[in-house]
Amino acid sequence: MPHVITDNCQACRYTECVGVCPVDCFHGSADRLYIDPDVCIDCAACVPICPVKAISDSFDLESGAEALIELNRRRARELPVVADQCDPLPTAADRRLALGY
Ligand code: SF4
Ligand code: SF4
Repeated sequence: MPHVITDNCQACRYTECVGVCPVDCFHGSADRLYIDPDVCIDCAACVPICPVKAISDSFDLESGAEALIELNRRRARELPVVADQCDPLPTAADRRLALGY
């Protein structure tokens, strides 16, 4: 089961995750990232590095795993690869506090 990005990523885009991915499978919109499940090799390197716990092995999700995989697949196909870390969004600190991290 591939790794997926959840809604926790929304409005922060810390992008620490992209720096550790060996296969460049992150794609991004203006406010969040997605993982291409057909490219992800399930190495799990990105999981502990996300400050808002937005990345999960889809196998570990309690529900909605298939829908989240499909959302990540669809958006990854529509959006460009993000391979380099960039500055977080101005909303990132507030979003992190709101999520309790
Ligand atoms: S580190 Fe986490 S919150 Fe930041 S862009 Fe990556 S998945 Fe999103
Ligand atoms: S699990 Fe590995 S291959 Fe998949 S997105 Fe994370 S770092 Fe990239």
